[in-house]
Parts: sequence; C-alpha cells; structure tokens
Amino acid sequence: VTDTPALEVRRLTTGYGESTVLRDLSLTVPAGGVVALLGPNGAGKTTLLRAVSGLLPAQSGQVLMGGRTITNIRAHERARAGVCHVPEGGGIFPSLTVRENLVMQAIPGGEAEATERAVAAFPILGDRLRQRAGTLSGGQRRMLAIAAAHVRNPALLLVDEASLGLAPIVVEEIFDFLRRLAADRAAILIVDQFAVRALEFAQSAYVLRKGEIVFDGGAEDLLGSDLFSHYLGAP
Ligand code: ATP
Repeated sequence: VTDTPALEVRRLTTGYGESTVLRDLSLTVPAGGVVALLGPNGAGKTTLLRAVSGLLPAQSGQVLMGGRTITNIRAHERARAGVCHVPEGGGIFPSLTVRENLVMQAIPGGEAEATERAVAAFPILGDRLRQRAGTLSGGQRRMLAIAAAHVRNPALLLVDEASLGLAPIVVEEIFDFLRRLAADRAAILIVDQFAVRALEFAQSAYVLRKGEIVFDGGAEDLLGSDLFSHYLGAP
C-alpha cells in the first residue's frame, strides 16, 4: 500500500498549435483509485487523456506516474512505464486478427496467457480469435481493446468513452470487467458520456468545462446533489 498517487497532473497547459485547450489543470488519480472525468463535448477530456499518455506534449506543467515525472518522455515509453490509453472507438488494429491484437501486447513467452486472459475476461472473443478485428461488432471491438490493454497489466488505465454506442448488455459486461480490474488495484481514469454510470463506478470525479475543472470531489457527492444537473446539464 502506498500513498503516492498513480497519476498526478500538475498545472498542465496544453492544446493544439496556437489553441490552448487545457489551462493550468491539476488532477490526481490515487493508487488503485477509480476516477471519472466528465464534462460536455469539447470540454477537453480526450485532450487530457492524450496529454497523460503522451500523444500530446505539455506546453507547461507536469505529469507524474507513481511519483515519477513522465512529462518529457514519449508515448511508447509512457506505455512501458505502465500507462495504457484505450482511445474512443479505437485501440485495436483492424487488419490483424483478434489473436494477433492480443499477442502483440504480450511479453515474449506470454502469448498463450494473453489470449487466455482475454477470453476469460470476454468469452465471446474466444470464438473470434482468427477473425480480423475490423470485422467485429462495435461491442466486441471495445471488449478487444480493453482486453488488449489488460494484457499489459497497466498501472494506470485511461478509458475514453467506455460505453458510447454499445448495447446495454455489452456495457454491463465491460463495466463488470473494469470493476474486477479496479478490485485488483489498477488505477483507472474513465471518460463516459453516461455520467451516472461513470459515477456509480468511480470513487471520485472531475468535471471539466472549457478546459477548466469546475468540480472535483466524491462521485457520490456529485451524483446525489444539484451539482449534477448544474454541471452536467442532466434533466
Ligand atoms: P468530446 O466528448 O466531444 O470528445 P472532449 O471533452 O473529449 O469532447 P476534446 O476532444 O478534448 O474534448 O476537445 C477539446 C477541444 O480541443 C475542442 O475545442 C476541440 O475542437 C479541440 N480539438 C480536439 N482535437 C483537436 C485537434 N486534433 N486539433 C485541433 N483542435 C482539436
């Protein structure tokens, strides 16, 4: 047990070219914690995940993982350090088979185990191992992306739009699996359009609006209060 957070974003400013999207933003994901990142379209949620995984460089500020700064290392090195980003609608190689998608994440010698773990997590993938990932249904692709991330045992999992466009039964299956990962002490930062579900899953939440944090607190506090409709515009 450690008090060092899995992720600390300190006074981060970043954006695209001339346009600044996130301004002086700070956020913490405790070790083994599950944190929801919410906010309207265009608030900067995806931008924040990209800045953490290294797809987007910081203009200023710092990103720390387990107390160690990763601000100036590249995406693949951050991945090696234990960050895994499941991007919205992506995270798979469509022209490769399901098995190849899983095996390429494995360490040498761990190929068979990678496949076994993925199938244990999402049994449907077991019937699809030789199918090209691009021909899977949307739900199966999402399962594969999350299972492939899991192969690497990431210390910090970033999930962008876990459930967007998926059937309720698939969403249940994905969240059940994420709950098991969380119980295993993986730290998770999750973005989901369906704020209620994200808040039921997470312990704490940040609400972003126009690149700034407007709420930072307990998931239950947000869920059970007027703040929810205030910040998230829910009926
Ligand atoms: P959504 O739920 O719609 O994805 P979001 O909260 O994830 O919203 P971002 O995708 O991070 O928001 O976008 C934040 C802002 O950055 C938006 O104004 C968007 O237009 C802008 N933006 C995003 N990607 C790029 C890019 N590649 N180049 C320039 N601007 C971008």
